[in-house]
Amino acid sequence: MAQLSQHKTTKKIGVLNLQGAVSEHLNALNHLVNVQAIAVKDAAQLANLAGLVIPGGESTAISRLIKQNNLAPAIKQMAQQGKGIFGTCAGLVLCGSSTPEHEVEQLQLIDISVERNGFGRQINSFETALDISAIGKQIPAIFIRAPYIIQAGDQVKQLAFIDNHGVMAQQANVLVCSFHPELTPDNRIIQYFVDCCCG
Ligand code: GLN
Repeated sequence: MAQLSQHKTTKKIGVLNLQGAVSEHLNALNHLVNVQAIAVKDAAQLANLAGLVIPGGESTAISRLIKQNNLAPAIKQMAQQGKGIFGTCAGLVLCGSSTPEHEVEQLQLIDISVERNGFGRQINSFETALDISAIGKQIPAIFIRAPYIIQAGDQVKQLAFIDNHGVMAQQANVLVCSFHPELTPDNRIIQYFVDCCCG
């Protein structure tokens, strides 16, 4: 068995290092076997990754920085090439296709319409446990000024709901969730994402 796992190639997963929960995602990814997590902030670094995490933080700020650094074309290219993309919280907003307020320039990687701060402000932050059939039961989920999915296109599989609001979804190689899996010791969701990353 040990020999088998040594032969498995290490997957290089980037964490977009512009603003937000970058070090938390790096830690969570580096706890997994056969993963090398790296903080990335320029387009050239994106080219040799198997996947990219767009972390939680402030979607307006991250969107501005994506624009300043001209990163949108390289991120979109990764998605088109079938590389894994995982947007958490603010990252979900950024990966989405529309928002009612148009405050954020979205990357349109997944066909969802998103309500920013849908679950309220900082004071309305909460923790719960989710059963996600593709992944497992009673997965802890921390929501901080979290968005939710208002509407999803036919190609999108919605994986979890709270009060009928979509909080996790996948369209092929693009995965998004409203909450922060990197802030809990339960690594099942992060592992699920890594398993979706090819190469
Ligand atoms: N409400 C924030 C936004 O829309 C997201 C909060 C978070 O990532 N924890 O940017």
